[in-house]
Amino acid sequence: KYIVIEGLEGAGKTSAREWVVETLRAQGIDNMVFTREPGGTPLAEKLRALTLDINATGDEIVTEKAEVLMFYAARIQLVETVIKPALARGAWVIGDRHDLSTQAYQGGGRGIDSRLLQTLRDAVLGDFAPDLTLYLDVTPEVGLARARARGALDRIEQESLDFFNRTRERYLELAAADPRIVKIDATQPLADVRRDICETIVRWVKE
Ligand code: C5P
Ligand code: MG
Repeated sequence: KYIVIEGLEGAGKTSAREWVVETLRAQGIDNMVFTREPGGTPLAEKLRALTLDINATGDEIVTEKAEVLMFYAARIQLVETVIKPALARGAWVIGDRHDLSTQAYQGGGRGIDSRLLQTLRDAVLGDFAPDLTLYLDVTPEVGLARARARGALDRIEQESLDFFNRTRERYLELAAADPRIVKIDATQPLADVRRDICETIVRWVKE
């Protein structure tokens, strides 16, 4: 099975992953592979660094379409060389971000036409999709403050609050429309977020 954790910066994806892992282990599931996107293979990590660093240094503005193609190149490399082989040998794959990030950030945030994204996704990924996505919902105000507090500034200083608000709106729309995406209120105290995640995973594993 393929479980993906999604959300804005500072949503708490890293802690969420720990809670997913401990819950799966308690259910007797030990065979897990971890991925992150963009990244997760040597090529995909280079593409991640390219898009994020070039944007950060301002040497060259990466165009929206160039950016989205680099993310898809990184994604399909990860899917074909890591995720699909792991699933084929029966491992559980726990992903930090996947295609929903592109739909939300590049579609909602950047405003790339959703038909273009749909076409790219269909051409590159076909019907490959996570079995379950946990979307950790935070307002940008809460998320960005948390990310700043730990010094994770990747994109934060380059994008406006509006960008992150549009990204969140798209996350919320897509989460509401897809039963395989479960929204978790990640503005709650950590203990409550943890409880919601554990309950979601336990219920889902039993189905
Ligand atoms: O998940 P993580 O916080 O490590 O993501 C790194 C950066 O990449 C974030 O700042 C995020 O905004 C950005 N990103 C993006 N578009 C994506 C995925 C991530 O702009 N599709
Ligand atoms: Mg993280």
